Amino acid sequence: MALGLEAKLGESVLTTKLDVVVNWGRQYSLWPMVFGTACCAIEFMSAAASQLDISRWGAEVVRFSPRQADLMLVCGTISYKQAPILKRIYEQMPEPKWVVAMGACASSGGVYDNYCTVQGIDEIIPVDVYISGCPPRPEAVLDALMKIQDQIKGESVLEDRHKDFKGILD
Ligand code: SF4
Repeated sequence: MALGLEAKLGESVLTTKLDVVVNWGRQYSLWPMVFGTACCAIEFMSAAASQLDISRWGAEVVRFSPRQADLMLVCGTISYKQAPILKRIYEQMPEPKWVVAMGACASSGGVYDNYCTVQGIDEIIPVDVYISGCPPRPEAVLDALMKIQDQIKGESVLEDRHKDFKGILD
């Protein structure tokens, strides 16, 4: 819109970019889905409970159907036997979607450096934010959520962020 016309319309019209307005909606309405396999999932429950109240970031609508979620939190150890299930559930989530690896086990296998444990879920699916700790404190979940929101702010709504990702099951 020409600058002169915009000035004439005054405060009745707001011009912006598609990325900005869509990402504003996305970042404050994340619907998490917890893929909880071990102790870290308990810390997520604490982050979602009333004392810390994840709804302050607009992410309280926790879903247990991947088709209704756009933020996957992997909380716990993943074995190679579970890996195809994790990948299938990730693929069932609609785009756009984001992934948090919560805790040492999900991020790197943790202390379970053995033949049956995936050494980090980024061997299977793309990860946006890693949370360190065993277990991480629930506040760290909120920190990860804010990092995802910051990341969304800078994304293009037309770009496929994961087009080059190749995991061990691809
Ligand atoms: S990182 Fe620690 S607390 Fe979390 S699932 Fe692994 S062993 Fe349990």
